[in-house]
Amino acid sequence: MESNGKEKPMSLSEDLRLPVGCPGCGSRLMRVSSTRNPDDRVRCASCQRFVCLYHEASKVLKKGPGSESEALIEKAFNRGS
Ligand SMILES: [Zn+2]
Repeated sequence: MESNGKEKPMSLSEDLRLPVGCPGCGSRLMRVSSTRNPDDRVRCASCQRFVCLYHEASKVLKKGPGSESEALIEKAFNRGS
C-alpha cells in the first residue's frame, strides 16, 4: 500500500491583508496561523516582524483604513509581544 498522505505542519499560516500597513515596512500583507485564535500573533509577511495579535487585526479589519486603525496597529507593534 502506498501512503500519499502528507502530514500537515502544525503551524500552517495564511495570508491576511490589513487595511493599514506594517509600521516597520508599510506592507499590508500579513501572515497569521490558520487556526486564527484571538491570541495568535500576526506577523508582517515582508519583514517578519510581529505586528499585532489576531483579535487586534480583526478589529482593524472591521474598522477599515483610517487613523484609528493605524493607531491600533502602531500601539500593538510598539508593544512588540
Ligand atoms: Zn513589515
